[in-house]
Amino acid sequence: MQPPVLSIVVPCYNEQEVLDFCLNELSLRIEDMIYKGKIDKGSHIVFIDDGSKDKTWRLIEIASSEKDLVKGIKLSRNKGHQTALMAGLSVCTDSDITVSIDADLQDDSSVIEQMVDAYSAGYDIVYGVRNDRTSDTFFKKFTAESFYKLMTLLGVNQVSNHADFRLLSKRALNSLLQYKEQNLYIRGLIPLIGYPSDKVFYSRSERVAGESKYPLRKMLSLALEGITSFSVTPLRIVSALGFMISILSSIGVLYTLIQYFLGHTVSGWASVILAVLFIGGVQMLCLGVIGEYVGKIYMESKKRPKFFIEDDTLKN
Ligand code: UDP
Ligand code: MG
Repeated sequence: MQPPVLSIVVPCYNEQEVLDFCLNELSLRIEDMIYKGKIDKGSHIVFIDDGSKDKTWRLIEIASSEKDLVKGIKLSRNKGHQTALMAGLSVCTDSDITVSIDADLQDDSSVIEQMVDAYSAGYDIVYGVRNDRTSDTFFKKFTAESFYKLMTLLGVNQVSNHADFRLLSKRALNSLLQYKEQNLYIRGLIPLIGYPSDKVFYSRSERVAGESKYPLRKMLSLALEGITSFSVTPLRIVSALGFMISILSSIGVLYTLIQYFLGHTVSGWASVILAVLFIGGVQMLCLGVIGEYVGKIYMESKKRPKFFIEDDTLKN
């Protein structure tokens, strides 16, 4: 049987410090697997420049003119990791398998070979799962773990400790590309696709160079994306809360009326103000959550194109 053509898809945002290292390491992995007959000679790496402001695209162009196995696409502006990854995957539909990995190689590229073995054994999706987070700060570890717990509680099905390091077969990729949503949380979509899946484990290391491109702000927005794109539980909680509060307030109204007819004047504006503030606060909270979803409907209804490829070196 002909070995499969593998594309390694690498989103890059201001990664000039790590690009060379990443390229060398991934090329070695590919050459090694070609040598072992596990993948086809046409296997390659696709770098996606996600609107970097540094020399990332220049470096990709140079590498791509020097080496056949390097290809690149450049997005017209920064669209974020998830969209960059989708853009990269969307140009690999001719390959038999794709593996997505971050440019900083915090994910252990040596397990790509195990992923390919799992594919050959019949799996369509192979998740890279971290089995140790010692390289993460306490804060990152804590927030990530709480997030996965919360997601499970909210009924969102995802593989815990798996980010976007995974292998997809051609049919899994084609299925993924049929999700046309704007708000992307890819790791939540993958389990929805189905097909046989497997996991490979690795320990996550430090970034080789440069800084994290995922500041707290982006982490929180990804988490919010994950929750509001896949779960309606927050809306249900709001409805439950509204229900409870309305029961409590009708009891309160009844009590006030009885006091009034019995001639006991209820005095003290503090309690009144408190009640008003409380209800006002809860209402605001509810409006906020509803607004989240309405905003999503609004965005989805526009069906805007997710990205435009400004330039590419696919034909090199
Ligand atoms: N990334 C991207 N666009 C962005 C932010 C990040 O393509 O707007 C890429 C980045 O270059 C890297 C990957 O997404 O390849 C993961 O980012 P990073 O390693 O900074 O995140 P962390 O590992 O700190 O969560
Ligand atoms: Mg990283």
